Amino acid sequence: MSASKIKPPSQTFQKYQTYNDTFLDQFLVKATFKLRSITQYYFQTLDTPGFQEYVTNLKAFTDSIREQLLTVAAGPTRARLMHTLINRDIEALTNTKTTCHKGCGSCCYFEVEVTTEEASRLAELILGGLEINHSHLELQAGRISRSSKWESGITDTNRCVFLGDDEACRVYEARPSACRKHMVTSPPSECKTITGKPTIVLLPFTEAIISASLNLLSEPLTSLSKGVADALIGLEEKATADRESIAATIPIDLLAFQDEAAIGLNGHPKPLKN
Ligand code: SF4
Repeated sequence: MSASKIKPPSQTFQKYQTYNDTFLDQFLVKATFKLRSITQYYFQTLDTPGFQEYVTNLKAFTDSIREQLLTVAAGPTRARLMHTLINRDIEALTNTKTTCHKGCGSCCYFEVEVTTEEASRLAELILGGLEINHSHLELQAGRISRSSKWESGITDTNRCVFLGDDEACRVYEARPSACRKHMVTSPPSECKTITGKPTIVLLPFTEAIISASLNLLSEPLTSLSKGVADALIGLEEKATADRESIAATIPIDLLAFQDEAAIGLNGHPKPLKN
Protein backbone atom coordinates (compact mmCIF):
# COMPACT_ATOMS: atom_id res chain seq x y z
CA MET A 1 0.00 0.00 0.00
CA SER A 2 1.61 3.26 -0.99
CA ALA A 3 1.45 5.96 1.65
CA SER A 4 0.46 8.51 -0.99
CA LYS A 5 -2.71 6.52 -1.56
CA ILE A 6 -3.85 7.08 2.01
CA LYS A 7 -6.12 10.02 2.51
CA PRO A 8 -8.53 10.72 5.36
CA PRO A 9 -11.95 9.22 4.84
CA SER A 10 -14.99 11.46 4.87
CA GLN A 11 -16.60 12.16 8.23
CA THR A 12 -19.85 10.48 7.25
CA PHE A 13 -19.14 6.84 6.67
CA GLN A 14 -21.77 4.78 4.98
CA LYS A 15 -22.75 1.35 6.15
CA TYR A 16 -20.24 -1.35 5.23
CA GLN A 17 -21.05 -2.87 1.87
CA THR A 18 -19.65 -5.72 -0.20
CA TYR A 19 -17.04 -4.97 -2.84
CA ASN A 20 -17.33 -8.17 -4.90
CA ASP A 21 -13.74 -9.01 -4.07
CA THR A 22 -13.31 -12.31 -2.24
CA PHE A 23 -10.26 -11.25 -0.19
CA LEU A 24 -11.69 -7.87 0.74
CA ASP A 25 -15.17 -9.09 1.63
CA GLN A 26 -13.77 -11.80 3.91
CA PHE A 27 -10.98 -9.67 5.41
CA LEU A 28 -13.13 -6.66 6.24
CA VAL A 29 -15.61 -8.71 8.26
CA LYS A 30 -12.97 -8.87 11.01
CA ALA A 31 -11.21 -5.57 10.28
CA THR A 32 -11.30 -2.46 12.46
CA PHE A 33 -14.05 0.09 11.91
CA LYS A 34 -11.49 2.61 10.65
CA LEU A 35 -10.01 0.27 8.03
CA ARG A 36 -13.52 -0.45 6.77
CA SER A 37 -14.15 3.30 6.63
CA ILE A 38 -10.91 3.97 4.73
CA THR A 39 -11.80 1.23 2.25
CA GLN A 40 -15.29 2.64 1.86
CA TYR A 41 -13.78 6.06 1.16
CA TYR A 42 -11.55 4.69 -1.59
CA PHE A 43 -14.41 2.66 -3.04
CA GLN A 44 -16.40 5.88 -3.39
CA THR A 45 -13.61 8.14 -4.63
CA LEU A 46 -11.22 6.04 -6.74
CA ASP A 47 -11.88 4.75 -10.24
CA THR A 48 -12.01 0.97 -10.70
CA PRO A 49 -8.27 0.47 -11.52
CA GLY A 50 -7.30 2.76 -8.61
CA PHE A 51 -9.50 0.88 -6.16
CA GLN A 52 -8.19 -2.46 -7.43
CA GLU A 53 -4.64 -1.21 -6.85
CA TYR A 54 -5.57 -0.27 -3.29
CA VAL A 55 -7.03 -3.76 -2.71
CA THR A 56 -3.91 -5.44 -4.17
CA ASN A 57 -1.63 -3.34 -1.96
CA LEU A 58 -3.77 -3.94 1.13
CA LYS A 59 -3.73 -7.69 0.51
CA ALA A 60 0.07 -7.77 0.04
CA PHE A 61 0.64 -5.70 3.18
CA THR A 62 -1.74 -7.65 5.42
CA ASP A 63 -0.45 -11.00 4.05
CA SER A 64 3.07 -10.01 5.10
CA ILE A 65 1.85 -8.95 8.56
CA ARG A 66 -0.09 -12.20 8.90
CA GLU A 67 3.03 -14.23 8.02
CA GLN A 68 5.05 -12.37 10.65
CA LEU A 69 2.37 -12.80 13.31
CA LEU A 70 2.20 -16.54 12.60
CA THR A 71 5.91 -16.95 13.42
CA VAL A 72 5.20 -16.54 17.15
CA ALA A 73 2.90 -18.25 19.63
CA ALA A 74 -0.69 -17.07 19.84
CA GLY A 75 -1.55 -15.00 22.92
CA PRO A 76 0.54 -12.38 24.77
CA THR A 77 3.65 -13.07 22.64
CA ARG A 78 1.76 -12.30 19.45
CA ALA A 79 0.30 -9.15 21.02
CA ARG A 80 3.87 -8.04 21.80
CA LEU A 81 4.88 -8.53 18.16
CA MET A 82 1.80 -6.64 16.94
CA HIS A 83 2.72 -3.75 19.26
CA THR A 84 6.28 -3.72 17.87
CA LEU A 85 4.93 -3.49 14.31
CA ILE A 86 2.55 -0.67 15.31
CA ASN A 87 5.38 1.19 17.08
CA ARG A 88 7.38 1.12 13.84
CA ASP A 89 4.48 2.69 11.94
CA ILE A 90 4.04 5.40 14.58
CA GLU A 91 7.78 6.13 14.81
CA ALA A 92 7.79 6.78 11.06
CA LEU A 93 5.50 9.79 11.61
CA THR A 94 8.38 12.10 12.37
CA ASN A 95 6.61 15.25 11.16
CA THR A 96 3.45 14.81 13.21
CA LYS A 97 3.30 16.86 16.39
CA THR A 98 0.77 15.55 18.87
CA THR A 99 -0.55 17.26 21.99
CA CYS A 100 -0.60 13.96 23.92
CA HIS A 101 1.75 13.97 26.91
CA LYS A 102 2.52 11.93 30.02
CA GLY A 103 0.15 12.84 32.84
CA CYS A 104 -2.78 13.88 30.61
CA GLY A 105 -4.77 10.63 30.85
CA SER A 106 -8.04 12.12 29.58
CA CYS A 107 -8.53 9.30 27.07
CA CYS A 108 -8.16 6.75 29.88
CA TYR A 109 -11.72 7.42 31.12
CA PHE A 110 -13.47 6.19 28.01
CA GLU A 111 -14.16 2.68 26.78
CA VAL A 112 -11.05 1.15 25.21
CA GLU A 113 -11.29 -1.87 22.91
CA VAL A 114 -8.61 -4.56 22.82
CA THR A 115 -7.93 -7.85 21.07
CA THR A 116 -8.12 -10.96 23.25
CA GLU A 117 -4.34 -11.33 22.87
CA GLU A 118 -3.75 -7.79 24.12
CA ALA A 119 -6.01 -8.54 27.07
CA SER A 120 -3.87 -11.62 27.84
CA ARG A 121 -0.75 -9.47 27.76
CA LEU A 122 -2.26 -7.17 30.40
CA ALA A 123 -3.59 -10.09 32.47
CA GLU A 124 -0.09 -11.59 32.53
CA LEU A 125 1.20 -8.41 34.20
CA ILE A 126 -1.49 -8.67 36.89
CA LEU A 127 -0.71 -12.32 37.54
CA GLY A 128 2.93 -11.29 37.69
CA GLY A 129 2.22 -8.97 40.61
CA LEU A 130 0.89 -5.69 39.17
CA GLU A 131 -1.74 -4.47 41.62
CA ILE A 132 -5.08 -3.27 40.33
CA ASN A 133 -8.47 -2.62 41.88
CA HIS A 134 -10.22 -5.90 41.01
CA SER A 135 -13.71 -4.80 42.09
CA HIS A 136 -13.33 -1.74 39.86
CA LEU A 137 -12.33 -3.99 36.96
CA GLU A 138 -15.37 -6.21 37.59
CA LEU A 139 -17.68 -3.19 37.73
CA GLN A 140 -16.50 -1.96 34.32
CA ALA A 141 -16.40 -5.48 32.86
CA GLY A 142 -20.07 -5.89 33.77
CA ARG A 143 -21.08 -3.03 31.47
CA ILE A 144 -22.47 -3.83 28.07
CA SER A 145 -20.32 -2.82 25.11
CA ARG A 146 -20.61 0.94 24.31
CA SER A 147 -22.66 1.46 27.46
CA SER A 148 -23.92 5.02 27.99
CA LYS A 149 -22.19 4.89 31.40
CA TRP A 150 -18.95 5.79 29.61
CA GLU A 151 -20.52 9.05 28.48
CA SER A 152 -19.94 10.67 31.87
CA GLY A 153 -16.27 10.92 30.86
CA ILE A 154 -13.76 11.79 33.58
CA THR A 155 -15.28 10.17 36.66
CA ASP A 156 -13.80 7.69 39.14
CA THR A 157 -16.00 4.86 37.86
CA ASN A 158 -14.74 5.32 34.29
CA ARG A 159 -11.07 5.42 35.25
CA CYS A 160 -8.92 2.70 33.62
CA VAL A 161 -7.56 0.30 36.24
CA PHE A 162 -4.09 0.79 34.79
CA LEU A 163 -4.05 4.58 35.18
CA GLY A 164 -1.70 5.70 37.94
CA ASP A 165 -2.28 8.38 40.57
CA ASP A 166 -0.11 10.69 38.46
CA GLU A 167 -2.51 10.18 35.51
CA ALA A 168 0.19 8.24 33.65
CA CYS A 169 -0.28 4.74 32.25
CA ARG A 170 1.22 2.07 34.54
CA VAL A 171 1.44 -0.45 31.66
CA TYR A 172 2.77 1.91 29.00
CA GLU A 173 5.01 -0.68 27.30
CA ALA A 174 2.12 -3.16 27.19
CA ARG A 175 -0.70 -0.70 26.49
CA PRO A 176 -3.19 -1.89 23.87
CA SER A 177 -3.17 -0.75 20.23
CA ALA A 178 -6.20 1.50 20.86
CA CYS A 179 -4.08 3.54 23.30
CA ARG A 180 -1.03 3.55 20.99
CA LYS A 181 -2.96 4.83 17.97
CA HIS A 182 -4.86 7.51 19.90
CA MET A 183 -2.63 10.37 18.75
CA VAL A 184 -4.29 13.76 19.09
CA THR A 185 -3.21 17.03 17.47
CA SER A 186 -5.99 19.25 18.90
CA PRO A 187 -5.92 20.97 22.33
CA PRO A 188 -6.08 18.43 25.22
CA SER A 189 -9.34 20.05 26.39
CA GLU A 190 -11.10 18.40 23.43
CA CYS A 191 -10.35 14.99 24.98
CA LYS A 192 -11.98 15.68 28.33
CA THR A 193 -15.64 15.18 27.44
CA ILE A 194 -17.64 12.80 25.28
CA THR A 195 -18.87 15.84 23.31
CA GLY A 196 -15.32 17.06 22.60
CA LYS A 197 -14.04 16.80 19.06
CA PRO A 198 -10.38 15.79 19.23
CA THR A 199 -8.47 15.63 15.95
CA ILE A 200 -6.96 12.15 15.85
CA VAL A 201 -4.18 11.17 13.44
CA LEU A 202 -5.33 8.48 11.05
CA LEU A 203 -2.91 5.52 10.92
CA PRO A 204 -3.96 3.31 7.98
CA PHE A 205 -1.03 0.91 8.35
CA THR A 206 -1.72 0.48 12.06
CA GLU A 207 -5.39 -0.18 11.26
CA ALA A 208 -4.26 -2.80 8.72
CA ILE A 209 -1.90 -4.41 11.27
CA ILE A 210 -4.64 -4.65 13.92
CA SER A 211 -7.05 -5.98 11.29
CA ALA A 212 -4.55 -8.66 10.22
CA SER A 213 -4.27 -9.70 13.86
CA LEU A 214 -8.05 -9.77 14.30
CA ASN A 215 -8.32 -12.00 11.23
CA LEU A 216 -6.24 -14.61 13.07
CA LEU A 217 -8.53 -14.58 16.10
CA SER A 218 -11.93 -16.10 16.69
CA GLU A 219 -13.02 -13.27 19.01
CA PRO A 220 -13.68 -9.67 17.90
CA LEU A 221 -12.46 -6.59 19.75
CA THR A 222 -13.76 -6.42 23.30
CA SER A 223 -13.67 -3.78 26.03
CA LEU A 224 -10.38 -3.62 27.96
CA SER A 225 -12.07 -4.39 31.29
CA LYS A 226 -14.07 -7.37 30.04
CA GLY A 227 -11.12 -8.69 28.02
CA VAL A 228 -8.74 -8.49 30.98
CA ALA A 229 -11.30 -9.99 33.41
CA ASP A 230 -11.90 -12.92 31.02
CA ALA A 231 -8.16 -13.35 30.36
CA LEU A 232 -7.46 -13.49 34.10
CA ILE A 233 -9.99 -16.31 34.50
CA GLY A 234 -8.57 -18.11 31.44
CA LEU A 235 -4.95 -17.83 32.59
CA GLU A 236 -5.80 -18.94 36.14
CA GLU A 237 -7.73 -21.97 34.80
CA LYS A 238 -4.81 -22.82 32.54
CA ALA A 239 -2.35 -22.55 35.45
CA THR A 240 -4.55 -24.91 37.53
CA ALA A 241 -4.85 -27.38 34.64
CA ASP A 242 -1.05 -27.23 34.11
CA ARG A 243 -0.45 -27.91 37.83
CA GLU A 244 -2.87 -30.87 37.77
CA SER A 245 -1.30 -32.26 34.63
CA ILE A 246 2.19 -32.03 36.17
CA ALA A 247 0.89 -33.66 39.38
CA ALA A 248 -0.61 -36.49 37.34
CA THR A 249 2.83 -37.34 35.95
CA ILE A 250 4.59 -37.38 39.36
CA PRO A 251 4.99 -40.85 40.99
CA ILE A 252 2.61 -41.41 43.88
CA ASP A 253 5.42 -41.66 46.48
CA LEU A 254 6.73 -38.23 45.51
CA LEU A 255 3.27 -36.78 46.03
CA ALA A 256 3.51 -38.00 49.64
CA PHE A 257 5.94 -35.16 50.29
CA GLN A 258 3.07 -32.72 49.83
CA ASP A 259 1.39 -34.32 52.81
CA GLU A 260 2.45 -32.72 56.10
CA ALA A 261 2.45 -36.13 57.79
CA ALA A 262 5.15 -37.27 55.39
CA ILE A 263 7.52 -34.52 56.50
CA GLY A 264 9.59 -34.88 59.67
CA LEU A 265 9.40 -32.29 62.50
CA ASN A 266 12.74 -30.88 61.47
CA GLY A 267 11.37 -30.17 58.00
CA HIS A 268 13.32 -32.87 56.20
CA PRO A 269 11.22 -35.27 54.19
CA LYS A 270 11.15 -38.90 55.28
CA PRO A 271 12.94 -41.26 52.93
CA LEU A 272 10.86 -42.84 50.23
CA LYS A 273 9.75 -46.41 50.90
CA ASN A 274 10.70 -48.99 48.29
S1 SF4 B 1 -4.07 1.00 29.29
FE1 SF4 B 1 -2.91 2.83 29.88
S2 SF4 B 1 -3.10 4.25 28.14
FE2 SF4 B 1 -4.69 2.67 27.89
S3 SF4 B 1 -6.54 3.52 28.85
FE3 SF4 B 1 -5.49 2.32 30.43
S4 SF4 B 1 -4.16 3.77 31.51
FE4 SF4 B 1 -4.77 4.73 29.57
